[in-house]
Amino acid sequence: MHLKFHKLILAAAAMLAAPAIMAQISETEYMSWPAYDGDDLEVKVDATGTHFTLWSPKAEAARVMLYDTDRNTAATDTLTMTRGENGTWRVSVPRQLYGKFYTFAVTVDGKTLDETPGIWAKAVGTNGHRAAIIDLAKTAPEGWAEDRGPKTDNITDAVIYEMHHRDFSVDPSSGIVHKGKFLTLTEPGTKSPQGLATGIDHLKELGVTHVHILPSYDYNSVDEANLNSNQYNWGYDPYNYNAPEGSYSTDPANPGTRIREMKEMVKALHDAGIGVIMDVVYNHTAENDKSNFSLTAPGYFYRHRPDGSYSDASACGNETASDRQMMRDFIVNSVKYWAKEYHIDGFRFDLMAIHDIETMNEVAAELKKINPSIFVYGEGWTAGDSPLPAERRALKENVDKMKGIAVFSDDIRDAVKGHYSRADERGFATGKPGNEETVKIGIVASTAHPQVDYSKGNNSKLPYAGAPTEIINYVSCHDDLTLTDKLAASMPGSTEAERQRAARLAQTIVFTSQGTPFMFAGEEVFRNKKGVHNSYNSPDSINAIDWSLKARNKSQFDFYRNLIRLRREHPAFRMTTAEDIAKNIVFDKIKDNNIISYSILNNANGDEWKEIKLVFNGSKSNYVVKIPRGEWTIIAADGEINPDGLGSTRGGSIAVTPTSALILARIK
Ligand code: CA
Repeated sequence: MHLKFHKLILAAAAMLAAPAIMAQISETEYMSWPAYDGDDLEVKVDATGTHFTLWSPKAEAARVMLYDTDRNTAATDTLTMTRGENGTWRVSVPRQLYGKFYTFAVTVDGKTLDETPGIWAKAVGTNGHRAAIIDLAKTAPEGWAEDRGPKTDNITDAVIYEMHHRDFSVDPSSGIVHKGKFLTLTEPGTKSPQGLATGIDHLKELGVTHVHILPSYDYNSVDEANLNSNQYNWGYDPYNYNAPEGSYSTDPANPGTRIREMKEMVKALHDAGIGVIMDVVYNHTAENDKSNFSLTAPGYFYRHRPDGSYSDASACGNETASDRQMMRDFIVNSVKYWAKEYHIDGFRFDLMAIHDIETMNEVAAELKKINPSIFVYGEGWTAGDSPLPAERRALKENVDKMKGIAVFSDDIRDAVKGHYSRADERGFATGKPGNEETVKIGIVASTAHPQVDYSKGNNSKLPYAGAPTEIINYVSCHDDLTLTDKLAASMPGSTEAERQRAARLAQTIVFTSQGTPFMFAGEEVFRNKKGVHNSYNSPDSINAIDWSLKARNKSQFDFYRNLIRLRREHPAFRMTTAEDIAKNIVFDKIKDNNIISYSILNNANGDEWKEIKLVFNGSKSNYVVKIPRGEWTIIAADGEINPDGLGSTRGGSIAVTPTSALILARIK
């Protein structure tokens, strides 16, 4: 997520209307608040009844309100909580209150705050305002106990596909019944008007290993009581972190439905051999004083400026304080919950550098205990300054201090296609000279390599990664222009065929680079977003993927499918150590602009191919390369690719056509 401008405006308006009310509380004071590490926060039902527990050390009183419905009704009962150990408040009822709804109301500094579903609500009703008491065991789909995600030894074995439920399905051309829902991904046999696979069948055909879903916890912006009005949001406005978003369910009023349907989605993907990664946004909340954190223990969960106002490294109005024990525990326990209860296979941390290194290390370590195939990656930057010192931030430059965490490479992103926000600026693949060394930084996954001169890097000047498992390579995601739109903006006067050729070269560089490849949904059919870069709340006409494009751009789709197959069949592209990369990758000395030529030697990483030669030509003219004599199979040439070979050559002088990759393989 980059800037959410609407949030900035809202935050500014809120500050004008009501100046920050937080008393100035020092960091030392927050540190002195007692932490509570019990696993019974919120609500627990057992044979003796229903037990509510809330952590709010500075509260003077706390109550539970009980309701019969998820909204629009008065409380049927009010329970007074009593002070427990370590800042907790408790109350029990000797009955199992399944089917009831509840909220908490906390009194602080003589003032009773608005009701809140609490920070640990696992089931909620419409718009998440009231939490629900349900039996989670009853939300398990058929076969859930045996459900397992794919085994992934190293993150570099993954091919990640980033998608939004609504983008993926809402266009009539998807042929999908449950448009914009978790169930979108549970429908087999769906077809485009031209009879080509859509939905989950499309993902299987493409060959990606993991689907990365945009935020799918309960978020704020879409009114779940008014779903016929075709609202859209990316979901970077968290409300209830531990319950699924209601608008993605077929019945937001029924708390169990969204839970079961999300699990059905996970199960369907797992049955297809595909893992599920969740985009998580613990770095800020949609609201400031009205967030569930603020209504539970005001002040504690956020960082502040010296004057007591909310600091704002998220550019969304606030930033959370992972360096405080209970916020850290919240993040760690929340991802653990999603991993255990929903069988989630990975987590993508939004603005991860707002969190501290220690928290991220604990996240990764705890998740690996649950399932060694789970992996964690994130944006190794913030969207503004933070009171957290830079050396403690989970920045990309600090990635080697974090075990089992990867960061997005903005190096390869901007070098290959051109700068992310300067729309008309070209990159290596579209003929701009001067990015060669930064592309090489991407190829070696930002690890130290004797032939890569980091002083010439555009973004980073140091080999910040200790291993390729620490790097996610990409040239587009939900943020900024799609690759299709970026190419249109930076290649005025070009034909669509020329732009598709540039996309092929750009993605060939990404998918053959060391590290983990990541792609934005629909790029394989050359989807666009009509030039809208920050489409967080744009209508379906901007965000929906038109699946008729799959037939129209069938050769583009086939190229992507073959590119993914090449990577998955050849471990040489998936080395796991910096030492292997330094030893096995040898760059050719090239003086020409927009040319990179290198070899992957030594049957790298157990590959059946002894040597792979890759030449990328981002220039506008043919580049003649001298290939040593031998028996070479041509894997890619002149904008085409086939892992089984397009033909063969004995080496010698070979012309690499403009805007294309030449890939050759030698077995002996
Ligand atoms: Ca919601």
